[in-house]
Parts: sequence; C-alpha cells; structure tokens
Amino acid sequence: MPNHIKILPNYLIKRYQDWKVTVYEENKSWYNKIANEGQNPHAMIISCCDSRIHATSMFGADSGEFFIHRNIANLVPPYNPNGDHHGTSAALEYAVMILHVSHIIVLGHSNCGGITSGYKLCKDNQISNELKFVNKWLEILKPAYKNFSKNANQFDEDPTEDFGKESIKISINNLTDFPFAKSALNKNELVLHGLWYDIGSGTLEALDPSSMKFVKI
Ligand SMILES: [Zn+2]
Repeated sequence: MPNHIKILPNYLIKRYQDWKVTVYEENKSWYNKIANEGQNPHAMIISCCDSRIHATSMFGADSGEFFIHRNIANLVPPYNPNGDHHGTSAALEYAVMILHVSHIIVLGHSNCGGITSGYKLCKDNQISNELKFVNKWLEILKPAYKNFSKNANQFDEDPTEDFGKESIKISINNLTDFPFAKSALNKNELVLHGLWYDIGSGTLEALDPSSMKFVKI
C-alpha cells in the first residue's frame, strides 16, 4: 500500500462504530427502505463548503431528505455548456431532470472566506497566483459586485455580509438561465429560495420575493 493512504484516524473509526450501533441500528428499517427504493429528495440545497454550515442539522433532516451540493461560497455559475467539467451545473441538472426536486435552496452564511476573497478580487482586482482554481471560481461574483458597488455608500465598513446576500441573488438569477430549470419553473414544478445564515447568532434570513431583501424567519 502506498504510504500516503491510511484507513482512517482511530477517532473517526470509533465515531463511525458508535453511530452504527446506535443511530443506524435504531433506524435500520428506514435505511433499508431508502436503499431499496432509491432517493426521493424534495429539495436541493446549494451551500458553502465551510465546515460550520450544517444544513441537515439546522433543518433536522434525515438521510434521503436533501440533495446537497457544496462549493466555495455557495455559488451557481452562469449557464455555459462549453464541454468543460462543471460540477455544480451537473448537480443541478441531476437534481432537476432526474430527481425532480420541487425546491432549490441557495444557502449563504456569515463570515464566509469565499465571499470575503471574492469581494477583494472584484474590488481590487487582486489575483493570487497561489489559488488559481479558487480565484477562477470566485469570478462568478463579478456581476454581484457590479450591482453591489452601485449602492456601496449605504453599506457598513465590513460590506461582506451584504455582498454575500447580493451573491445569493446572482446565483438564483444564474439558476433561472439553465434551460431545464427554466422549464421546471415555467411549469410550476420548481421553486427557488435564498437563505442567509448567521453562524454566531443562529439567525436565518430568507429572500423575500416582494422586496428582494432578506428577512428574518
Ligand atoms: Zn462560505
């Protein structure tokens, strides 16, 4: 075996074994059911890779309830079928065309490193040679910055909270450009939601379609 591959650290083996004899054992019939019948989630969640975002815990969700895609800064890229590898677009396509989810939730959060870096990238055009993939990915935020900078005066010294919320609107807008999403939306088979979560206070805000502002729920 190559020496850079190990089975698992012992603490994770122990946690898994504890889960197997408790949670799994107590819900065995549910796990058997979803194994045999396949998944049938009603909602897709697009959240940040950030380890502090725990969507299943926040909504008390069981296995099989949410189809979750995570990426840096919970972004939906523009529709661009150019033959490159598009992980987020592939997850969206699968959720809408195969799983027929009824809801797609874009879940942003406070203190997001991706949003902060994206803000600097757009504002100062700072390009770090070190993070080529991250920087390229965060270019999705450029239209969000354009909208945001028009109203820049009304924001606080740390504008990343508002910028993060603006980026959720851009992601939702990009989502509607995917033909399969557009078709499901036109047939009223799909609804989109924007959420923003404050890690420290546990507050959750939702995008209100009438004002296009985020309101506490
Ligand atoms: Zn984040």
